[in-house]
Amino acid sequence: MPWHSGVVRLLVVEDERRMAEALQRGLEAEGFVVDLEGTGPGGLDAARFGGYDAVVLDIMLPGLSGYTLVRTLREEENWVPVLMLSAKDGEYDQADGLDYGADDYLTKPFSFVVLLARLRALLRRDPAPRPAVLEAGQLRLDPAAHRVMRDGSEVALSPREFALLETLFRAHPTVVSKERILDSVWGGEGAVDGNLVEVYVGYLRRKLGRERIETVRGAGYRLAP
Ligand code: CA
Repeated sequence: MPWHSGVVRLLVVEDERRMAEALQRGLEAEGFVVDLEGTGPGGLDAARFGGYDAVVLDIMLPGLSGYTLVRTLREEENWVPVLMLSAKDGEYDQADGLDYGADDYLTKPFSFVVLLARLRALLRRDPAPRPAVLEAGQLRLDPAAHRVMRDGSEVALSPREFALLETLFRAHPTVVSKERILDSVWGGEGAVDGNLVEVYVGYLRRKLGRERIETVRGAGYRLAP
């Protein structure tokens, strides 16, 4: 566990200089060793080869977006914990960061104390690699490559549909409650209409086949065995 074994090295990828330097000062004051990168390609190289314990990653970066950066790392089976920083400008969906392989996200502007707490939680987490491909019957879901295969052919899913299906896969074969689906697919977005779950289950059934997702009355949903 890096957190208990002396020096913890962090990479901050952020092109807004004042924000980057403020983060560096704050994190160094907490005892972390912090390196800064100001571009997407520079951040990707550093994350690949720097041996960091965690990465704080902005989305809008010159050269390569934070989304592409984290997705590339996961495709290369690099599971360094990534905390994504998203601007609250409506241009991007915060949950997209998680779909692309980030471990957590914060919306700007954020409190430094909250950032610190989230980072520490990530550093405590078991760094074991996630399974490369999840399977249930004739369905396969590859979290790193962000692909779903049904009977051997690829099915195109929206980011929300993918997140919902991945939630069902990770719980398989147990039932997932509507509340847990809301939390994992729409979490952190405040009040969300619970009917969204039924709507998106409907979308998935249309794409994957009705029988693949079972409704368990009063309990929730599960993938068919
Ligand atoms: Ca930026």
